[in-house]
Amino acid sequence: MIRQPQPKQDVLDRRAAIVGRLRAILPADAVIAEPLELKPYETDGLSAYRQPPLAVVLPRSTDEVAAVLRLLSGEGVRVVPRGAGTSLSGGALPMADAVVLGLARMNRILEIDETDRFAVVEAGVTNLAITEAVKARGFFYAPDPSSQLACMIGGNVAMNSGGAHCLRYGVTSNNVLGLRGVTVEGEVVTLGGKYPDAEPTDWLGLVIGSEGQLLVVTEVIVRILPLAEGARAMLAGFRSNEIAGACVDAIIASGIIPVALEFMDRPAIHACEAFAHAGYPLDAEAMLIIEVEGSVAEQDALLARIRAIADRFEPVSMRVSQTAEESAAIWKGRKGAFGAIGRISPDYLCMDGTIPTSRLAEVLGRIRQMSAQYGLEVANIFHAGDGNLHPLIMFDANDPASQGRAEAFGADILRLCVEVGGCLTGEHGVGVEKRDLMGEQFSPEELALQRRIKGAFDPAWLLNPAKVFPLVEA
Ligand SMILES: Cc1cc2nc3c(=O)[nH]c(=O)nc-3n(C[C@H](O)[C@H](O)[C@H](O)COP(=O)(O)OP(=O)(O)OC[C@H]3O[C@@H](n4cnc5c(N)ncnc54)[C@H](O)[C@@H]3O)c2cc1C
Repeated sequence: MIRQPQPKQDVLDRRAAIVGRLRAILPADAVIAEPLELKPYETDGLSAYRQPPLAVVLPRSTDEVAAVLRLLSGEGVRVVPRGAGTSLSGGALPMADAVVLGLARMNRILEIDETDRFAVVEAGVTNLAITEAVKARGFFYAPDPSSQLACMIGGNVAMNSGGAHCLRYGVTSNNVLGLRGVTVEGEVVTLGGKYPDAEPTDWLGLVIGSEGQLLVVTEVIVRILPLAEGARAMLAGFRSNEIAGACVDAIIASGIIPVALEFMDRPAIHACEAFAHAGYPLDAEAMLIIEVEGSVAEQDALLARIRAIADRFEPVSMRVSQTAEESAAIWKGRKGAFGAIGRISPDYLCMDGTIPTSRLAEVLGRIRQMSAQYGLEVANIFHAGDGNLHPLIMFDANDPASQGRAEAFGADILRLCVEVGGCLTGEHGVGVEKRDLMGEQFSPEELALQRRIKGAFDPAWLLNPAKVFPLVEA
């Protein structure tokens, strides 16, 4: 048995004092401090890293969030905002001396307005629950991370999350009109509004994607869009990554923007087919899922044009889903890709970088070379239409050497993304995972400017510190 070092008495006394003060301002069930009850909060989607927090608070209103932040900032205590804890970059990873501020109990839908096409929701509403709430009125909320059943809109705003359908509809920043948030000092602020361009300076744009560094988001005004009449997915298998990549370029260059254009390489096809039984082409080296939507006539016309383009690349197979069930199976395979890899490998690291799609084949070739060099398998999944690459590196966390190699491999992939003109993160954020790679993409002057912006919102660096910005010597 590994013995955990016992915290010193002064640390325990301080913890007890802070927990006591939190209990004085919140209902009894809103403060968690027992070691066993803290367990579910000690990690997030980047589960190789674990750290029990000082305590967890679960407020139910903006006023309670403000009271907590006033108290903690007054005491100089650090705070880690948390939604569902699905971050794959360790964004919600606790710190030993920080209180986790969980938004999960703020899960009410406050207003739906189909005339002006917005919904006002609390930060703890799950992504999918927004669409479920407006579907009967003929609307949906467009960004659809694969984690949409669990992840929350506050987390989506913090990470500027994307998903398979963002090629057509944009990411979170394109679909949020406004928000309510609380500063680290406990002041409630409103940014944006219910209508586009509600304020002259885009402060909202500064906060979306800021990874819990600037404000705690408590309410979000999302744009809702009319549901399409219908959608159909097409599967096309190709003889090589290069050919599939060239087909992606040809589709986009033709002026067609499908609602989704997803790419999987051979290892990903096999893992996902074994999981979803969706009829993925097992004889292909690479596969595209191409989805179009509209009336049946519009779908037919678009699919005919895409089929004609794909034919030029001599696909080994091509199939259009005929029923809603078939389309659902195709998406089950893609959206369940991370789980599918989890079935064949004890652990995996999901990388998230962006590249120009024209460099796809070259990048996949170099990732294959790195895979041989590091002795680790990798499966590649790619939001091909917008250049967002997700290599899944398989390793065994019980073997520290394997984990170290996986992390070094992942860092090399992200360096490669920057080298070819892309960037460090497409949608999963920087968190702790990519913090020390920020210097690969940003100059010291750019990082200094970013730090000054963080400092303007959070002068004592109490909000989610030790994430995003490379650590500097004191
Ligand atoms: C299986 C799986 C599939 C995924 N697929 C996708 C995908 O397709 N696209 C995609 O973009 N991401 C994806 N993700 C990553 C993750 O789901 C997203 O980053 C998501 O937006 C995180 O939401 P969350 O509620 O879980 O936030 P958390 O993980 O709890 O927190 C994420 C970050 O946001 C901050 N934060 C959370 N809530 C607030 C708030 N109210 N105010 C201020 N800061 C806050 C936290 O401090 C942290 O930095 C996937 C994750 C998993 C596990």
